[in-house]
Amino acid sequence: MATIVLKPGREKSLLRRHPWVFSGAIERLEGGPVGIGETVAVQTASGEPLGWGAYSPHSQIAIRLWSFSSAEDIALPFFERRLRAALAARAELHARTDLDAYRLVNAESDGLPGLIVDQYGDVLVMQLGSAGPEHWRDTFADILQEQCAPVCIYERSDSDGRELEGLPKRCGVVRGTLPEKVEVTENGLRFAVDVAEGQKTGYYLDQRDNRALTGTLAQDKDVLNCFCYTGGFSLYALRGGAKSVLSIDASEGALELAKRNVELNGLNASKAEWQCADVFGALRKLRDQNRKFDLIVLDPPKFAPTAAFAEKASRAYKDINLLGFKLLRPGGLLFTYSCSGGISDDLFQKIIAGAALDAGVDAQIVKKLHAAPDHPVLLSFPEGAYLKGLVLRVAG
Ligand code: SAH
Repeated sequence: MATIVLKPGREKSLLRRHPWVFSGAIERLEGGPVGIGETVAVQTASGEPLGWGAYSPHSQIAIRLWSFSSAEDIALPFFERRLRAALAARAELHARTDLDAYRLVNAESDGLPGLIVDQYGDVLVMQLGSAGPEHWRDTFADILQEQCAPVCIYERSDSDGRELEGLPKRCGVVRGTLPEKVEVTENGLRFAVDVAEGQKTGYYLDQRDNRALTGTLAQDKDVLNCFCYTGGFSLYALRGGAKSVLSIDASEGALELAKRNVELNGLNASKAEWQCADVFGALRKLRDQNRKFDLIVLDPPKFAPTAAFAEKASRAYKDINLLGFKLLRPGGLLFTYSCSGGISDDLFQKIIAGAALDAGVDAQIVKKLHAAPDHPVLLSFPEGAYLKGLVLRVAG
């Protein structure tokens, strides 16, 4: 087995059980060559064992640790145990009858770096984000088939990060047959999910609980849902008794599915207005038209994938939030989110504070929000906490 020896002192993060080794921390590779994604032993400069990881020669993150125990055997039974533990942690969600869509495996935070598995009814979508899971692709498919018995395992290995790993994008059926229609239940609402062409693995499971919260606060309100995708927040608002819901997204396909989702649930389509537009321009138009709302949701895409994009992203967040504040009636609520790993909770709150100041409103934080519990964050891996949200009430 090949061994990676770290530079002196570079074992510190691994001793804190953070699972990444950056290429700059590596002194040398002994016993190579090693193929992409193959398992290597990791050692300190003085030869102390640190564990086993997946080797990714083209990435800045050169190794992702599978295990911090040198006694571990990285093979089928190891992955069976890790997957079983991830499933067991979701037993409560699994038992629910009003819900059949959730994240089964959340990568690093479930001890399986680079592997995401989302369940949509009896279809599983698997996303391999780095070299390790790429190497073990068939093993993961076999275990998932055995432990979950889905009708289909569909692969959506088309995340941007794969390029940095030197891996090509790959999508398609891995096991079984993809049903013509995939429909799921989320808190009793039905959603059509396009696992083959939709964004991420087809749907934004991480916002499930936050969508539900919006639904409970929507009664008799004029709601604006920006970046609505397939209508998630809009459907909850309609079910929650909103007076009107205006939803905006740049994707025609997403809006088509959103309208279908309203029908699927027998919700009152006459209360729903849909706009296919760029939100930045649409918000300015609404401001110029002097439109006002009681509840606004801003759930934009990832403006800052890493900290290097933080400055540009901050301007974009400030822009939409400033406009959002201006479109709220006194006493109105702003649900504002960032799913950017490159923007910390603190920075996000500062950006929003700046937006409120420039909009000339006083606002209170009513609640701080994060991803749903099927997207847990390992304490030793704070990078896992990408989604942050604030519920703000502007002064009446
Ligand atoms: N709130 C949604 C998820 C939003 S994902 C849910 O709960 O399911 C972000 C969405 O923003 C995507 O649907 C994407 O099409 C859209 N989008 C990205 N940039 C945009 C822009 N500039 N204007 C409008 N929509 C945009």
